[in-house]
Amino acid sequence: MEQDKLWTKILKEIKQEINAGNFQTWFSKTSLSNLTDHKLSIATPNAFISEQLRKRYLSLIQTVAEKVIGKIVEIDFVVDPSKNIKITKVQSEDLFSLPEEFIPKTPVQVINPKYTLENFVVGLSNNVAFAAAQAVVQNPGTSYNPLFLYGGTGVGKTHLMLGIGNALLAKNPYLKVIYCSSEKFMNDYVEAIQTHKMGDLRNKYRSPNLFLLDDIQFFAGREGTQEEFFHTFNELQSRNCQMVLTSDRAPHEIGKLEDRLRSRFAGGLMVDIQPPDFDTRVAILKAKCAERGEALPEESLKLLAASLDSNIRELEGRLMQILQVLKLKNLPPTEENIGQFLTNQPKKASLNDPKLIISTVCSYFNLNLKDLTGPKRQKELVLPRHITMYLLSEELNMTVEKIGQILGGRDHTTVMHGRDKIKKLVDKDREVQRIVIEVKQKIVQ
Ligand code: ADP
Ligand code: MG
Repeated sequence: MEQDKLWTKILKEIKQEINAGNFQTWFSKTSLSNLTDHKLSIATPNAFISEQLRKRYLSLIQTVAEKVIGKIVEIDFVVDPSKNIKITKVQSEDLFSLPEEFIPKTPVQVINPKYTLENFVVGLSNNVAFAAAQAVVQNPGTSYNPLFLYGGTGVGKTHLMLGIGNALLAKNPYLKVIYCSSEKFMNDYVEAIQTHKMGDLRNKYRSPNLFLLDDIQFFAGREGTQEEFFHTFNELQSRNCQMVLTSDRAPHEIGKLEDRLRSRFAGGLMVDIQPPDFDTRVAILKAKCAERGEALPEESLKLLAASLDSNIRELEGRLMQILQVLKLKNLPPTEENIGQFLTNQPKKASLNDPKLIISTVCSYFNLNLKDLTGPKRQKELVLPRHITMYLLSEELNMTVEKIGQILGGRDHTTVMHGRDKIKKLVDKDREVQRIVIEVKQKIVQ
């Protein structure tokens, strides 16, 4: 038998035995390099494919080859880079005409390469999530599975998730990645039921090495979809497929989510991304300018960062809008020119006013001014008081004496103690961090 034909025959048998996606990924660029009396050499385009074939399919290839050839042979792999482009005609005709979803997406990028870990700006609000992403990239499919990222709109969940995907693809371009919104997963599920094609659905969603599922809060109340996803999840986890899930809220806050899913999520690593603080917003704006080769005055960026708080997507949109109009009008990006846009916006208050800081803390904690500045020492009053001390000192550079004065005549050592306490907690305690950020945001709103 001619070598090509012999190999085609072997491949046909193998194809019967394994999942179509895997067949495509690992066998589409193989060919028979040489066949002697006792040895069959398979050519592959690179060492990685050889290695994977050896690891995953050696015994299958051996069994099938022996059956087709009719005698025992040793299997050997040789690397032949020319095979990367050339696929033998016989093979490419029928054997590899696969359904769309099995056409190898790799090493072609399947996810937007724009979102990387390198261009993700790290600040207080997202540093834990970023570290978790790095850990996943170092050790996919093991200890942090699934990685569950949650946080409000536009705080960078999708960016970070795709950053993980791109980092893992950089390590292994043959990785099979699925990235999809939860809505798409649900639609596919509903369609599969209607068309009686559950098998296809399962082949598709249970085949990746990396599964990125966005906005899972969408599953709330969709029982059938949750059930299907639960089984997909178990299958993927047992195969060490790394999963990254995002949600706009924590699992326990997603209404109508099955407990067994919740507990699966909790079994991995759950981290939140908080709205970015002012400094992070400025840093993000700087980074976005740099990406576009624009240099805007620091003061303008600060003004812009102060004008919008939690949603980075909006912040970025506003920046783009400004850059575009400047370009259209052919104006240089000076402080003055940019200032025009920002003053056109409804005027936002600044952190520059002690009264405003105090009244915002009061309304945030639902207290009246008397309580905040008064002598009572209940727990509910102490934290708001300390946060006020901290904000007055950090934001306005007020002296501890002055702060003591306006907070009902307190001693400066008391103020120092309160301020330093929050200073420490703000780096360590997520809850305090969140309160400080939210209060600051309320102030500039
Ligand atoms: P989410 O999925 O949380 O709604 P996205 O990931 O879509 O938010 O982020 C919205 C926009 O903000 C994107 O353009 C993203 O690149 C940008 N962005 C968010 N966080 C960061 C960050 N830390 N560094 C750089 N860009 C960010
Ligand atoms: Mg998103």
